[in-house]
Amino acid sequence: MANERVDTAAVGEALLGWYDRSARTMPWRTGPEARARGERPDPYRVWLSEVMLQQTTVAAVNGYFNRFTALWPSVANLAAARDEEVMAEWAGLGYYARARNLLKCARAVVDRHEGQFPAELETLLALPGIGPYTAAAVAAIAFDRPATVVDGNVERVVARLFAIETPLPKAKPELQALAARLTPDKRPGDHAQAMMDLGATICTPRSPACVLCPVTERCLGRRAGIAADLPRRLPKPEKPERRGFAYVVCRADGAVLLERRAEKGLLGGMLGWPTSEWSADPVPAPPVAADWQTQGMVRHTFTHFHLTLTVLTATVPQGANPDRGFFLPSSEFDPVALPTVMLKVHDAASPASAPIERKGRRR
Ligand code: SF4
Repeated sequence: MANERVDTAAVGEALLGWYDRSARTMPWRTGPEARARGERPDPYRVWLSEVMLQQTTVAAVNGYFNRFTALWPSVANLAAARDEEVMAEWAGLGYYARARNLLKCARAVVDRHEGQFPAELETLLALPGIGPYTAAAVAAIAFDRPATVVDGNVERVVARLFAIETPLPKAKPELQALAARLTPDKRPGDHAQAMMDLGATICTPRSPACVLCPVTERCLGRRAGIAADLPRRLPKPEKPERRGFAYVVCRADGAVLLERRAEKGLLGGMLGWPTSEWSADPVPAPPVAADWQTQGMVRHTFTHFHLTLTVLTATVPQGANPDRGFFLPSSEFDPVALPTVMLKVHDAASPASAPIERKGRRR
């Protein structure tokens, strides 16, 4: 078997040596020098960063992480925060269910564990919103437990290192097992971060920089000349197209009509403009009788489908009585707090204004 030819102990050692020289600096990370001085990572910061990093890149997470930890420096502070405030700060990171789980988890850590994150994998997994990846990352990075942390970067590195040609997602159990074989008992947290760094900076998706790689001599994928083609993937099914209508209603006094979406489902519990259903053939569903003007189309891609919304606007008199939603006074309306697709609708409905910049980054 190919993987028997990889000396996992030597790979682990080479990776840690490289990490000691080249670890990336990140606001949530306790680097190898600080670790050597005896500093320990803060489990709250490790957990928060890992949840955020599931959404987007390190560069994009930096700002969110710094704002969150400035507003809520500890898990107890976050647990005590108002839901709306946290959701508004999360806006732009996407997957709002994760933000709600973030709060649930913070509150469970306070209620069940007196504000201290547990170190054991099983106990971490019992917390709301913590799946196998986050549990392993917190156990390894914050507590130096020998947990195996496998994200997309790590899957790629392992597939190349061991020249695994089984396509994803079928290869996942095999890659997980091989990643576990690489995980050392000594410094498993630094090993996990070294694997992540290698995948993010050297063993990159399209063109791995094998000449710079600390394990190049031991990499079976490089030797076979197939590294850049790994991991193999089954072709993705096409995302279906859905359409819908979004209604931007402004009352004579400037108040806007918003609707809170159902707790379960996409954008669950978030505020947004009233819309029709989203489907292949949506039926218009204006929330109030009005003289509707079409302002254009908005396109947004969710994980499982593409959405095109036709944006309609109307101004209604003071006594208007919509059949759903509620009027929010203009003084309390902050479009930045809307989910991204709703922010796009806002921008389309206000063509004269510059598009809203969300905390320095347009998503
Ligand atoms: Fe990735 Fe190349 Fe290093 Fe192999 S040698 S792990 S393909 S960067």
